Amino acid sequence: MQSKGSQYKSGRRRFPWKTKYEQYGKITVSVVIEMKKWVTKSGCQIYQSLGGRCNSFLVSNGKRFLLVDTGGKMSRRTLVNRVETLRLRGESPAGIILTHTHFDHTGNAAALKTKYDLPVIVHRNEAPYLTQGKNPPIIGTFAMVKWCTNLFGQRLQDWTRYEPAEPDVLVEDHYDLGSWGFEGYLLHTPGHTAGSLSLIIDQEIAIVGDAMVGMFKPSIYSPFACDSDQMIRSWEKLLATGCSVFLPAHGTANSRELVSGQYRKYINSLPK
Ligand SMILES: [Zn+2]
Repeated sequence: MQSKGSQYKSGRRRFPWKTKYEQYGKITVSVVIEMKKWVTKSGCQIYQSLGGRCNSFLVSNGKRFLLVDTGGKMSRRTLVNRVETLRLRGESPAGIILTHTHFDHTGNAAALKTKYDLPVIVHRNEAPYLTQGKNPPIIGTFAMVKWCTNLFGQRLQDWTRYEPAEPDVLVEDHYDLGSWGFEGYLLHTPGHTAGSLSLIIDQEIAIVGDAMVGMFKPSIYSPFACDSDQMIRSWEKLLATGCSVFLPAHGTANSRELVSGQYRKYINSLPK
């Protein structure tokens, strides 16, 4: 392999990584060299594979990797490029985890499932949406957003249909990923949607989908939730995992201190 080492250049500005160009015979391939990355105590590497509107992550044990969420359809080329980067390093994709089935998380699930022959893992409550390429209800939590989703919610759900995919593994409350070669498990964290899942890695880092957000700090309260009380109770479940970092699909990482402060702020307002 010959690397054109001098040809480093920044990736597109809205993505948090850089690319370089490597020569394979007559073919030049762009390779990601600097995806945002976290490493846990067991050596599990978590790469942020998509940024911008909706984050997605690649979770690697050094030999195999899982793709967590797939972004919207417009980001397909970028996502495939990230997957190819790990494949070029000799790692193979093991499966696709969908934290839930809103269009900005499922836009490339069917295409990547077919391209790499991957199983799709999703919560049982989300399966009917995925098989139909439909969104679960989109419901606002704040007055203004609620007004908008009441007015446009159904139309928004129709406008944002996506390519349907058949799920292969249906998760209930808890699903261990030990047999997949990962020190981690999936946890049911409903609220944003009825079947929202979070991936807990090494009791250290949680990839939480839309169970909370990271773009309105110090608030982590999602502007959309089917059941906002349940969303707060899911924060409690996530804190009980012992994780210190929570990676949401929108915005940047939330610290344990931030999540626990927000939990204390909202929990007393919930019905006992
Ligand atoms: Zn969502």
